[in-house]
Amino acid sequence: MMNCRQASILLSAQQDGPLTLSQRSRLRLHLLLCNKCRNFNRQLQFMRDAARAPAHWE
Ligand SMILES: [Zn+2]
Repeated sequence: MMNCRQASILLSAQQDGPLTLSQRSRLRLHLLLCNKCRNFNRQLQFMRDAARAPAHWE
């Protein structure tokens, strides 16, 4: 089982490109069990969506 530090690294990496299948499944398992990292993931997705928004408005 990965720890929170490893999970946060994968969550950040995920913003830049797809993870491998094994990285994704280990990350999913961690997110299922870890509320802290779920919140972190939500924040990352929110920021990513916010950063992407202006492109849609042009
Ligand atoms: Zn965690």
